[in-house]
Order: sequence, then structure tokens, then C-alpha cells
Amino acid sequence: APFQQTDLHEGLDSTLVMLSAKLKGVTVVKDYCDDLPLVPGYPAELNQVWTNLIDNAAQATGPGGTIRLHTEVQDDHVLVSVGDDGPGVPPELRSRIFEPFFTTKPVGAGTGLGLDISYRVVTGKHGGDIQVVSKPGDTRFEVRLPLVEPTL
Ligand code: ADP
Ligand code: MG
Repeated sequence: APFQQTDLHEGLDSTLVMLSAKLKGVTVVKDYCDDLPLVPGYPAELNQVWTNLIDNAAQATGPGGTIRLHTEVQDDHVLVSVGDDGPGVPPELRSRIFEPFFTTKPVGAGTGLGLDISYRVVTGKHGGDIQVVSKPGDTRFEVRLPLVEPTL
């Protein structure tokens, strides 16, 4: 399938609807920028990324917690960040969480594939970048997607 001009807010919104059962008791703040440009990409695969990040954020913060979805244009790319006010990713784990099968969740609760898949979709399929910025109470997964279709 070719790249499509993708509405990221629409993808984030439909992901929230899909995950509504898991988001019970969690406050979701949509800090969306006005007039976000469309991004060349694969909408279904990007929705998998938002699903993984929002699911992780919901698990990290739990009922009573807050998730923040932020979008902005920066130079030649769009930044989407998924934030939560949970305990954060300990510094010694930050280099490992994007590895396949890495999980700190109980057996059966997590496959450890969400961030591996997200990393591959964002970098390999879109020429973008995904990073974590985390301290206790303030964790953000930052996804950057080029505004111009990359030659991969
Ligand atoms: P899984 O969710 O199945 O454990 P992921 O690849 O989605 O696998 O995440 C890997 C690990 O990264 C998690 O087990 C957790 O330790 C850490 N992690 C991911 N997102 C967050 C977050 N928002 N806050 C704290 N830790 C996180
Ligand atoms: Mg996960």
C-alpha cells in the first residue's frame, strides 16, 4: 500500500475510542495543535503505534491518572507525544524497552512487543524517530514523523 496523506488527530481520536474500556478512570488531555498538516504515512500502522503508546501510558498511570496527547509542527516534521504521570521508566531500562520481548509486566500481561513494533513502524516505515523522556510523574514518548515523504 502506498503512503497516504494521514490525519494524525483522527488516528489518535479513533485509538482513544478503541481503548475506551482500558481508559476508564483515566483523564485524557488532548493538547492538539490547530491546523496540523497531514503526514505521509500508513494510517493503520500509525494507529498501532498510538494504540501501543496509549495502552502503555494507561497501564503506567492507572485509574485517577492523566494521559496527555500533544501534537505540534517542528521544522520539517510533526511531533506527537504521549505523556503520562505514572512512575516513569527507570534510567537503567531506557535503552532496553524498545527491544523485542522486553517487558516488566507479569507473565501474560505484556508481550514486550509494543515498543519494538512502534519503533520499527516509526523509523523503518516512516523515516521518523521515537524517543522516551521520563522522570517519575512525567513520562513522554515522543514520535517524530517527517512532513515530506522519505525515500527509504
Ligand atoms: P509491554 O507493554 O508488553 O510490556 P512494550 O514494548 O509496550 O511491552 O513496553 C516495554 C516496557 O517498557 C514495559 O514493560 C514497561 O516496563 C516500559 N514502559 C513502556 N511504556 C511505559 C510508560 N508509559 N511508563 C513506564 N514504563 C513504560
Ligand atoms: Mg505495551
